[in-house]
Amino acid sequence: MKRKIAILGSTGSIGTQTLDVVRRHRDLFEVELISARNSTVLLVRQALEFDVNNVVVCNPDKYSEVADALSGSDSKVFEGIDSLCSLVCSPDVDIVVGAMVGFSGLRPTLAALEAGKIVALANKETLVAAGGIVTDTMRAHNAVILPVDSEHSAIFQCLLAAQGNAVEKIHLTASGGPFRTWSREQIAAATKDQALRHPNWSMGSKVTIDSSTMMNKGFEVIEAHWLFDVSPERINVVVHPESVIHSMVEFEDGAVIAQMASPDMREPIGFALSFPARISVGNARLDFDTLGSLTFEKADTDRFPCLALAYEALRRGGNAGCALNAANEVAVDAFLHDRIGFYDIPRICEAALDGLNFVASPTPDDIFATNDEVAARARESIR
Ligand code: MG
Repeated sequence: MKRKIAILGSTGSIGTQTLDVVRRHRDLFEVELISARNSTVLLVRQALEFDVNNVVVCNPDKYSEVADALSGSDSKVFEGIDSLCSLVCSPDVDIVVGAMVGFSGLRPTLAALEAGKIVALANKETLVAAGGIVTDTMRAHNAVILPVDSEHSAIFQCLLAAQGNAVEKIHLTASGGPFRTWSREQIAAATKDQALRHPNWSMGSKVTIDSSTMMNKGFEVIEAHWLFDVSPERINVVVHPESVIHSMVEFEDGAVIAQMASPDMREPIGFALSFPARISVGNARLDFDTLGSLTFEKADTDRFPCLALAYEALRRGGNAGCALNAANEVAVDAFLHDRIGFYDIPRICEAALDGLNFVASPTPDDIFATNDEVAARARESIR
């Protein structure tokens, strides 16, 4: 039986790499649904290449363009997030790949979990904004979340060797991003082009900026907390510029298990799609004859204050992660449009945490309200 896949955000970096894995294993996977917001040309091409049954255009303004282009095909075309939320629940979907960017991924992810699906989750903002709700929903409906983020896939793989033994510490590795060796003064003057030049990973612009501020790693700390039920003080971020070790788990006896691979997202994507089997994904092999040394450094929260803000949001709990994510989305967008400087990003995020109407046990409605309120206030402060 082929596994039937829905890819939410099929035209982005994770979406296209997921389809590349599928392309190599047509005997294992079938693409049932794809969705995108604006990249209509690529969406149409994907629908035709993979003979996709259902295609969702999240931006209603772009619907007719896609519907016209696919009118002679077998694909049915739908518009809007509501359609996406109901189509992911179809019995024809086995695995939902959550590859949308940002907070927009929350509703369809919750819908998939309520339908008891296996969710291969790349959209970390979903767990940052609503980790408690997402994991409660998963448990209530016997759904499964398989991590696609490379670090969390690595931790998951290390935990397969844990045999139920308690985790003492998670060591989350970070490349350090493009500004790892820059002084605070240099970073303060960084431009978006410099921030978009990631040394090791090829990713979308939002996550690349988040990597340059290290908010991405902060979000991954929060993500690790929710996925693996480990408290913040047991999650250590270590800078590892080579990005060969994707993360490590330490046990009571001091043993540390690390997962390694060349930096290529198709490896964690392939593992989530085919778990527990491993399949070839076309990535480069590690060559230990030429690899040389692996190095490690302490993470610096003075030059990268976003990392400390994420720990702070995790310790506060409630809707603090949602507020941090909302402010960060607005700030990163403004930075990408040259409207604010690099260190305005942590400033805006810190202000959002300081001015938050704290809700200790948020409902989904509280989360959507917090997101809107904090984003509006952040936009106002930028104006
Ligand atoms: Mg990652």
